[in-house]
Amino acid sequence: MSKVMIIGAGGVGRVVAHKCAQRTDIFSSITLASRTRSRCDAIAAEIKNAEIKTTQVDADNVSELTALLQQEKPKLVINVALPYQDLTIMDACLAAGVDYLDTANYEPLDTAKFEYRWQWDYQDRFSEKGLMALLGSGFDPGMTNVYTALAAKNYLDEVQEIDIIDANAGSHGQPFATNFNPEINIREVTAPCRHWENGEWVETDPLATRRLFDFPGGVGPMNLYRMYHEEMESLVKPIPTIKKAQFWMTFSDNYLKHLEVLKNVGMTRIDEVEYQGQKIVPLQFLKAVLPDPGSLGPLTKGKTCIGVIARGIKDGERRQVYIYNICDHEKCYEEVNSQAISYTTGVPAVVGGIMMLTGIWHKPGVWNIEQFDPEPFLAEVGPMGLPHVVIDNGYWPPL
Ligand code: NDP
Repeated sequence: MSKVMIIGAGGVGRVVAHKCAQRTDIFSSITLASRTRSRCDAIAAEIKNAEIKTTQVDADNVSELTALLQQEKPKLVINVALPYQDLTIMDACLAAGVDYLDTANYEPLDTAKFEYRWQWDYQDRFSEKGLMALLGSGFDPGMTNVYTALAAKNYLDEVQEIDIIDANAGSHGQPFATNFNPEINIREVTAPCRHWENGEWVETDPLATRRLFDFPGGVGPMNLYRMYHEEMESLVKPIPTIKKAQFWMTFSDNYLKHLEVLKNVGMTRIDEVEYQGQKIVPLQFLKAVLPDPGSLGPLTKGKTCIGVIARGIKDGERRQVYIYNICDHEKCYEEVNSQAISYTTGVPAVVGGIMMLTGIWHKPGVWNIEQFDPEPFLAEVGPMGLPHVVIDNGYWPPL
């Protein structure tokens, strides 16, 4: 029984709060802290089966957050604010002696760089204090890393290639909207593509490589676009036999058309521009006028299908395994007032927290999720809402 503090009252924070409240056997006390307290209060008011304490905090301010942690004394912080806050929250956790978990790697505000090095640099500081930081406990990164670890543990003697494939076959009926924080989503999608091949990163233009893929579970054929995603960086370290790692995501023609126009007119820029005597960042302004992803919950219908195809050698023979989850937007909304993108991120964050608080996964230092045994995590995350399917020894042509 342990006290948890959730930081960030957005789409993912809502799911994390609901799901922690379903597991009061583990989370004996739940505090939701965020920049805007009214958003915490709105989430707390939806949750009837447990008390959610709410508070305001600026997580960019290390001393303010440290003081809050020292006062509340949680055992674990679940960081579902924005990637810009990862380092300040890790600093506050170190100062207050609290374990840390997140779902997205640190990004500096002024460059869309997705790298773990800033957080990996905290390894010694967490180790020395006997504290643990679990990085990337969402879906992708998160479940996709766990699926890859499962392929390496149970299905392949040597994992040689991975394709991480993320389909959102849902529709919200809006002309243009993103399913999670628009600023983070657009920075990620418009960044140069990188994939791992023969020991190095190969850079190509954003979204320049397209493939058609026939998804299981009634999702059907959809266009996939290759892009960079952070879990490839952490996965090629503990599984050095991986020769090729690629990440693919589906986008509708409509989404891509809007994105192209927004990029062409400069609205996706992340540098400051002068406007009427004041400095603004075009992408931050765009976020302010786009639909709040939280408002898409009641509108979104359809499914997500996210998983990993791992190829390699088993008993001397080439073999492939596809491990994936299918999640239904409307069912998620019925359960926790949120669409499947926030749901598929929030549930693994809570299960990562359960692994840490029960000691099943507890080791001082900074760790990515694939560095732990995948099986206890999968045994917990299925009943919590994200069961997985394994198709062993099938054939999917190389993407
Ligand atoms: P939202 O924008 O909906 O929510 C972010 C929340 O963080 C908001 O409530 C915001 O406050 C709060 N926040 C921002 N800055 C601060 C600060 N300085 N101090 C305190 N609180 C702050 O984002 P999402 O819920 O969609 O995403 C949350 C995280 O999940 C992101 O890091 C995102 O990258 C990650 N993610 C990971 C995925 C995965 O599969 N691994 C998939 C999707 C998302 P306010 O309400 O005032 O704006």
